[in-house]
Amino acid sequence: MSDERHTSEAIDLLVALIRNACVNTGDPTSGNEIRSVRTVQEYLGMEGTVVEPVPGRASVVYRLKGFDPSAPALLMIPHLDVVPADDAEWTHDPFGAVRADGFIWGRGAVDMLNLTSAMVVVFKWLTAGLMAQPPGDIILACVADEEAGGVLGARNLVDNHWDLVTCDYVLTEVAGPTLTTSDGVALPVTVAEKGPMWRKATATGTPGHGSQPYGRDNAVETLGRAIVKIAGSDQPVRVTEQWLLFVDYLGLDSDVTKMLKDPDSVDSAIETVSEYDIALARWIHACTHMTLSTNVVEGGTKINMIPDTAHADIDIRLLPGQDASDVDDHLRKVLGPDLFDEITFVPVLDMTANQSVTSGRLWNAIGAAAEHHLGTSRLAPIMTPVTTDARFFRERGIPSYGVGLFDDTATFSQMLAMFHGIDERVSEVSVQRTTEFLATVIEAFGSQRGES
Ligand SMILES: [Zn+2]
Repeated sequence: MSDERHTSEAIDLLVALIRNACVNTGDPTSGNEIRSVRTVQEYLGMEGTVVEPVPGRASVVYRLKGFDPSAPALLMIPHLDVVPADDAEWTHDPFGAVRADGFIWGRGAVDMLNLTSAMVVVFKWLTAGLMAQPPGDIILACVADEEAGGVLGARNLVDNHWDLVTCDYVLTEVAGPTLTTSDGVALPVTVAEKGPMWRKATATGTPGHGSQPYGRDNAVETLGRAIVKIAGSDQPVRVTEQWLLFVDYLGLDSDVTKMLKDPDSVDSAIETVSEYDIALARWIHACTHMTLSTNVVEGGTKINMIPDTAHADIDIRLLPGQDASDVDDHLRKVLGPDLFDEITFVPVLDMTANQSVTSGRLWNAIGAAAEHHLGTSRLAPIMTPVTTDARFFRERGIPSYGVGLFDDTATFSQMLAMFHGIDERVSEVSVQRTTEFLATVIEAFGSQRGES
């Protein structure tokens, strides 16, 4: 074990993790995160506690005991899995971890193996005495299966192994580059995420021979009418308090910013933004709307048979303050009472949005680290439209944040486009800065007094 802090170790670790290609397709036999668990074990020189609910789907947990049992414990919980990537569309092999032009290229470079590597290196510094150790426990849990809902990773740890991950504060994803406004720079910190309220829509009809459709109910046609209506109607706007706190940090033109705060003008402001930055427009839309997207359709068995059932999976995402009744209200309004009654909507996933407070010991520590590295403690509290493992801890009232520190080689919206996108890459400098930044966060967390 080296006796100095080398941020280059985070780069080497990131390269190794990308090359392990722990691709999670959603199939329980994919992922095979045990390979990256071994990489982490080897690097740390410690076994940790391995939890492997299904062969190959491993997570590893380490707990560095603090010296004051009454001091708050901090959990770093990065994931090891990544989503698939189609080689043909990439500039470099998505699992080659090619180092070129100052970047590390590959699936997971942004989501989230950059942070995973930084957190593992910081944990090593802590255990090697290369950093001031906070009084409370520091836990590192490198987990499987985040990309398919965490059932074999964080969800399993929280539900079945709570003793391993017991904590008072959490650091996980999502981290993004700094934002520049007329008042200077601000560091985005993920504090909230939308709630997936997924629905399986089913239409039924009367079966019969396809040659004589007169007077029959065709389930595919009924469902088709519903899908077209859902797709063709405006998605409900909602300007949340969290959005009002955040929108100024985007540093957009002042007229556009003003419009983005008013539910009546949000949609036209988004149209304006889409003309020059579609990724940003898409993200703003998600942050200000209940979104509905029909993503799977099944129905019928044979070209000459009138189908009696058809299904559609609809990905619906709720903003803070919305619940299942808002979904039903919207669907009833869009479909009309008759069509609404013809279709059953069965919950596939029923979660409301979650968020953490923008105050407290870890929040203050992030602010102090930002002051140290950026010269400002302005933190921009951000909501992500996707789900992360943070939700399992926010459910238990544990403040959970995502943060890192990047250089200016990718803007906020360029980074948005890289999540699950092509040519995902991160600059080497960003990986090193994030590592130093997280080390400062933990030291600042440890040195704070009073408030726990
Ligand atoms: Zn992720």
